[in-house]
This record gives sequence, C-alpha cells and structure tokens, in this order.
Amino acid sequence: GPPAESGRACAEIDLGAVRDNVRTLRGYAPRAELMAVVKSDGYGHGAVRCARAARQAGAGWLGAATPQEAFALRDAGDTGRLMCWLWTPGGPWQEAVERDIDVSASSHWALDEIVAAARAAGRTARVHLKVDTGLGRNGCQPADWPRLVAAARAAEAEGALRVTGVWAHFACADEPGHPANAAQLDAFREAVAVAERAGLDPEVRHHANSPATLTLPESHFDLVRTGVSVYGLSPSPQVGTADSLGLRPAMTLSASLALVKQVPGGHGVGYGYAYTTPGETTLGLVPLGYGDGLPRHASGTGPVLVAGKWRMVAGTVAMDQFVVDLGGDEAAAGDRAVLFGPGDAGEPTAEDWARAAGTISYEIVTRISARVPRVYA
Ligand code: PLP
Repeated sequence: GPPAESGRACAEIDLGAVRDNVRTLRGYAPRAELMAVVKSDGYGHGAVRCARAARQAGAGWLGAATPQEAFALRDAGDTGRLMCWLWTPGGPWQEAVERDIDVSASSHWALDEIVAAARAAGRTARVHLKVDTGLGRNGCQPADWPRLVAAARAAEAEGALRVTGVWAHFACADEPGHPANAAQLDAFREAVAVAERAGLDPEVRHHANSPATLTLPESHFDLVRTGVSVYGLSPSPQVGTADSLGLRPAMTLSASLALVKQVPGGHGVGYGYAYTTPGETTLGLVPLGYGDGLPRHASGTGPVLVAGKWRMVAGTVAMDQFVVDLGGDEAAAGDRAVLFGPGDAGEPTAEDWARAAGTISYEIVTRISARVPRVYA
C-alpha cells in the first residue's frame, strides 16, 4: 500500500534505485566521469535528494540548466563540481562564478558577459565552450569556433577564465545508428583539435547524454551527462527497455480511490461524455488530473492498476481527477490506484503513459506537478 503520509496521491521516489542506476551507468562508461543531470527538479523526482543519492553513488558532476537550479543545489550544501548550461543574457553570472559553478558559452556575447562577471567577482570563471556539432540549437557554429576559441584563450591568459570543458549535445542519439550520430562525433573531434591547437587544455570533453552513454562508447570522452537514465527510464524504445538496460524506474505515482459507485448502463462519464458506460458497472474516481501534470492527451488511453487489473482512463482527464470503469470488480474508496512505477508489480510504467499520450517518458515524469507530494524511500 501507499506510505501513510501519502494522503490523496503521491510520487514515491526510490533513492536506492537512483544510486543503483548511477552505478550501472558508471559501468557503461568506466573510463569517463559521470554527471547526473538534475535539471527541472531532477526530471520531477526532486533535484536535491536525487543529487545527493547520485553523489553517494559516485557522480563526480551535477548538471543543471539554469543558474537558479545550480544555486539551489549549493544552498542545499552540495560542494562538488556543478555545471549549468542555459546561458541567457543578463543572467546571474557573477553569483555563478562566486559559487564555483561551471558555466557554458556558445558565443562571444556569452563569453564577454562571463568574463565581465569574473572580473567583477575578482575570480576566475570556469567555462565550457559549446560547439554545435549538428544539433542546430545551442552551441557555436564550427565556422565561428576558431574565433571563439581564440577569444577564450586570450581571456585565459589574462586570468579571467579557465576553459574547463569543451562540449556538445546530440540530436538523434536516441536512434542508435542514425547517421547524424557519427557525423556529430566527427565534428566534435575536429572542434576539440582546433581548441587544443589554440592552446586550450580542457579538463573534460563531453558529448554523451543517456542514449549515447548506453549505446555509443566512442562518444564517452572524459564525461557523460546522464539524465533520464539516472531516474531509471530508457531514453527510447529503440535504445531498450529499462529492464534490458539494467535500470530501475525510481518514481511510482499512485493515488487512493476517492469514490467507488455503481451506475447504470448508458451513463455518460465526465466532461463531454467522452465515455458512456456500456452496461451497469462500478466507477472509481482517481484524484489526479492535469493540474497534477497528467497529460490530458491520455484521456481514454492512460492505464492504471486498480484491484489487480489495468483500467484505462474513462472519458477525459480533468484538472483534479479522472474516472476508471472497474467493470463488475470489487473495489472500495481508499483502494490504491497505481498509474506508473517500475512495472514489476504489474503496474504500468511511465513509458506506457508516454505511449498513451503520444509523448516521451521524460515529459511524463518531469511534468508531475508540485501539488503531488514526493515521498522518499
Ligand atoms: N546534456 C544536456 C545539454 C541536456 O540538455 C540533457 C537533457 O536533455 C542531458 C545532457 C541529459 O539527457 P538525457 O536525459 O537523455 O540523459
């Protein structure tokens, strides 16, 4: 059953699974360091608690997107290597430098602002230069790369910064064998060579996310940045299942049935009557909805384990609740409804919800909102 403190609904987070996943991932990339990516509140699992668990299992680095996320980890007492990569103009770069957070620069604009922040702090900024090896998102275009490298080298000589990393990000690593993967690695090796010829000596060269860590050893370089796999989810069905990869999903989302009632056949259920009972039946009310981060796109398709069987969302997912048709089965208010978990007790997984909603499991767990209490085990 659910933990006593769960109330209406809760997301149980298995920190032992996080630790095991980190150890497993280190086994996939034995010669590289591991960065546990804990952005967006640890993909919805709780950044501070998951970061601590990941450190215990040997994560040498933590990765965040925004500087505010990185500051929250420092506020919680983390003193290890920590990088945030989402550069925006006018960001709190001085505080980032003062708090020993590694930052990223993809442009002269970013580099200049970070150098100014370092001078204001009277410190040396730690900067990872990002090259666009083909993602088409962040990162310096290869044609501009030699100039960015030269500017960074000049700032290094002045003591304003130290280039601690050279890095890039994959576009299609979740599709093993996609030709872009090899092309991006070729572009990366070239960019690293340009940086080294210009006199840069980065501590870490890094390109791999979870799917590359799991499937593409030549992408590991000095550091792998693993996110979704730390939480025990496979990056994509093509990469494998959690089970086949040796990962254990860390989040279990469950609720207590709030109401169980008999209704006659032909009874419309919920907004728009998207479901009508095919005959006399028992309905169960699950007190979780899109206000809790469930995808409304899973209306009619999202699976829930109740009284030993999978039931689909009957009708639409509302803001705070949805209904399941229990058929003739015995159930009572207070019974547990498990939306997703590791799957080994017969419950659906986040991947099943992703398929039901036409999205990826990353989005399913990350969107579970702050209204759902996280309970740590
Ligand atoms: N590196 C960067 C730059 C990212 O933005 C992310 C997340 O999308 C990751 C690594 C981790 O990716 P994944 O969750 O697939 O391991």
